[in-house]
Amino acid sequence: MEFDLIVIGGGAAGFMTAITAKERGVRRITILEGTSRILEKVRISGGGRCNVTNASWIPAEFIGNYPRGGIKLFESFSRFATGDIFDWFEKRGVKLKIEDDNRVFPVSDSSMDIVSCLERSAKEIDIQVSKKKFVRKIIKTSSDLFQVFISDDEYLFSKKILISTGGNPSGYKLADSLGHNIIKPVPSLFSFTCKENFLKECSGVSVRDLDLKILINENSFSCKGDLLITHWGFSGPGILKLSSIAARELYGARYKFKLIIQWSKLGYSDLSEKLNQLRQFNGKSNLYNTRPFPYITKRLWIFLLDKMNIDKDKKWAEIITKEREIMIKFLMNDEYQITNKGPFGDEFVTSGGVDLSQVSFKTMESLICKGLYLSGEILDVDGITGGFNFQHCWTSGWLAGVAIANSLR
Ligand SMILES: Cc1cc2nc3c(=O)[nH]c(=O)nc-3n(C[C@H](O)[C@H](O)[C@H](O)COP(=O)(O)OP(=O)(O)OC[C@H]3O[C@@H](n4cnc5c(N)ncnc54)[C@H](O)[C@@H]3O)c2cc1C
Repeated sequence: MEFDLIVIGGGAAGFMTAITAKERGVRRITILEGTSRILEKVRISGGGRCNVTNASWIPAEFIGNYPRGGIKLFESFSRFATGDIFDWFEKRGVKLKIEDDNRVFPVSDSSMDIVSCLERSAKEIDIQVSKKKFVRKIIKTSSDLFQVFISDDEYLFSKKILISTGGNPSGYKLADSLGHNIIKPVPSLFSFTCKENFLKECSGVSVRDLDLKILINENSFSCKGDLLITHWGFSGPGILKLSSIAARELYGARYKFKLIIQWSKLGYSDLSEKLNQLRQFNGKSNLYNTRPFPYITKRLWIFLLDKMNIDKDKKWAEIITKEREIMIKFLMNDEYQITNKGPFGDEFVTSGGVDLSQVSFKTMESLICKGLYLSGEILDVDGITGGFNFQHCWTSGWLAGVAIANSLR
């Protein structure tokens, strides 16, 4: 049987491509999904709520959220971005809401609404979806058709193919076998393990909007974001963002590096003034009882005083200049040795994939192998948390679907 389009991989990007192509007139489309479950990552995403996209409306700002992909995505998001995916889902009956931090979720707070919408949309227009069809090999025939092998004696032919296998190694192998360069895939968006004694006591403490920095050899990477102390180390949006910014270098360092936390949001002189005021106006109060900033909880402040080797029972009036300087140094530059990624394999995305210089960002067609298209995580594009990874799937999927329909017309 010959298809017009075979989509390899039944995730967000594959479904978006198939639906877009079919709605624009491509007739015979099949989605081949290797497992028994389609759209599985959509289902588990966002803690079961699916963070569909991010309500940032300006493409030039939007691309700043992709440590890899950057400028190439500018044109893509100029054609299909947040507003378009809002319309896309709302037209199909799924209402979306914007949360305070700009993340976008279904109003129902259920990822199943997104899964069902994509599944239903594909079914209504007769897109064939085949599960447990793991693609092992693709050959381009002399008649410019693709021969897609599920096993040696089970194969299909198609005029066009789309590889949308996410971060699965098999997809990289398929792309590689058709001549593509693969940028080494490494994890991105993970928490950090830190064996600092007593940090556990602060487990559950979260602090908003801190300056965070990674030092690896001579390089440093910084960002601002929320920090969560866990019983194994550090997590929270700021840490995940930092892991994304430095994903490749952290992999190179085998996840052993220094994390610098700036607990103070004040510069040196303002912080110095603040501590002087505490000495002057709260002199009779014990250090542990009066914290320099309300957002540093009592548990955290006691931990920090212990780490500074300053007696927490001392009165503010009793601290000597040397201790004040230590306090300033710690609050501005508190250092932790990170020994690994978080323990739960909680990587959300893969950084790396098909080299972007080999793909047209107008059409998502390979520049190496005509008739082959790519969308989603298989590409060397990855974003920080907040809905940016799905938006890339929707956008690249839509662009590929439109281009496939145009080229078959
Ligand atoms: C726990 C978790 C939560 C997340 N939450 C969010 C979120 O809230 N917001 C956000 O923006 N991003 C989130 N992400 C990231 C997001 O899920 C991915 O960026 C996105 O799912 C990638 O979509 P994709 O279609 O490219 O690949 P996938 O969703 O990985 O789909 C690829 C499909 O291809 C199939 N496949 C692989 N190889 C083959 C083969 N050889 N033959 C046939 N089929 C094959 C796979 O089984 C899979 O079904 C989350 C990720 C995880 C892991």
